[in-house]
Amino acid sequence: MKEVETAAFSERTACLSCGSNKLLELSTGRFDEGALKTFIEEDPWGEHPAPFLRGQRWSYVACQDCGLAFHRNILTPEWNERRFSKWMSQEEIEAFEKRFKTPAYEFSVIDQTSSDRWDISDT
Ligand SMILES: [Zn+2]
Repeated sequence: MKEVETAAFSERTACLSCGSNKLLELSTGRFDEGALKTFIEEDPWGEHPAPFLRGQRWSYVACQDCGLAFHRNILTPEWNERRFSKWMSQEEIEAFEKRFKTPAYEFSVIDQTSSDRWDISDT
């Protein structure tokens, strides 16, 4: 039997912009529950990421000093590369990044419909 690896995340403990460690959690959840689970499962992938994300949590935080909002847990460089080389096609990446240019999206992570995407990258 083949053992399934688990994606590795690293945790940001300070604000990307001002370096403050006063981070307020806006929303959190698991990759394998709720709407996020549904669209990860339904999306077309190369190598399917769901088994690697099982049981893992995402956490979206805001800096209380400057207001910047970002994902606290990001894939390690090794896993981020895997994400782009195996999980997603170039076409999908472009569509995905376009969507992330809108600030409104940043606060809707928890209310995703199945057609939306999620971001765990270091942007
Ligand atoms: Zn800040």
